[in-house]
Amino acid sequence: MIRGSTELVAIVGSPIAQVKSPENFNAWFAGHGQDLAMIAIDMQEPALDAFLAGLRGWQNLRGCVVTVPYKQVLADRLDGISGRAAALRSVNVIRREADGRLLGDNVDGEGFLNAARRHGFQVKDKSALVIGAGGVGGAIAYSLCEAGVGRLVIADVSAERAGALAELLGNAFPAQRIGNELDSLEGLDLLVNATPAGMGGTGELPLPAALLDSLQPDTFVADVVTSPEITPLLAFARARGCAIQTGPQMAIAQLGNLGAFMGVTPLEA
Ligand code: NAD
Repeated sequence: MIRGSTELVAIVGSPIAQVKSPENFNAWFAGHGQDLAMIAIDMQEPALDAFLAGLRGWQNLRGCVVTVPYKQVLADRLDGISGRAAALRSVNVIRREADGRLLGDNVDGEGFLNAARRHGFQVKDKSALVIGAGGVGGAIAYSLCEAGVGRLVIADVSAERAGALAELLGNAFPAQRIGNELDSLEGLDLLVNATPAGMGGTGELPLPAALLDSLQPDTFVADVVTSPEITPLLAFARARGCAIQTGPQMAIAQLGNLGAFMGVTPLEA
């Protein structure tokens, strides 16, 4: 129950009814006896500056998760952002400091890694393919580099976007092997679909069938798509004998990364 003493966090986006964070956070707060609650805010874009002014003055609000379509537009309107959020020009979480300053980070990639660690997958020196050079793919690729991936290939239907992300990461992590070329999936330790391919029962695979045919059982295969839980890619990988990670597992793992940044949950919530 929300009381006068309850401290708040929020999630902002538009539309907002489809998001799962409020039920996940509120279940965690209730289960851990916390006098905290998350509210969902469907905000129009012209009102964002007034919204941020409101957040700065909102004394019983600890922070705000940011979702589509505001991850990019809010990144350059905050009072400070992390190095990775600046590089990616994207935030997915804001913390309100006691003096009202708003600080941002992007923990999509950390949430992905958090889920992968729960599967026992360690990134250091591994070989990885990330398909999708958009918001989530960029964040995952950045976190893989921060965690010391040995070799990283970025693919996207837009060769321009894939090339731009590889260049950005190459500049940020000059010691790492980052590129866009891949003829076979043999030798890959990790394959990640960070595109919407397979969402909503389309049956779409994010790679051509001929390339997928080279997938080996010792590759860990992950998808960011949350519905269906078992995407066509994950079904294919599972049939091949690969260990898999689902989109909902990433979303659940990221609750701790979002909550810890806002100061309302431990990292391993
Ligand atoms: P985006 O539009 O920023 O990026 C998607 C990228 O995929 C684009 O660059 C596009 O060109 C590329 N692409 C699309 N189809 C492709 C294909 N068949 N092959 C290769 N590249 C292709 O989107 P985003 O914000 O990065 O979101 C991607 C997905 O991640 C969405 O489905 C979203 O729902 C999901 N998501 C999941 C979580 C989670 O916790 N599981 C969190 C955030 C987003």
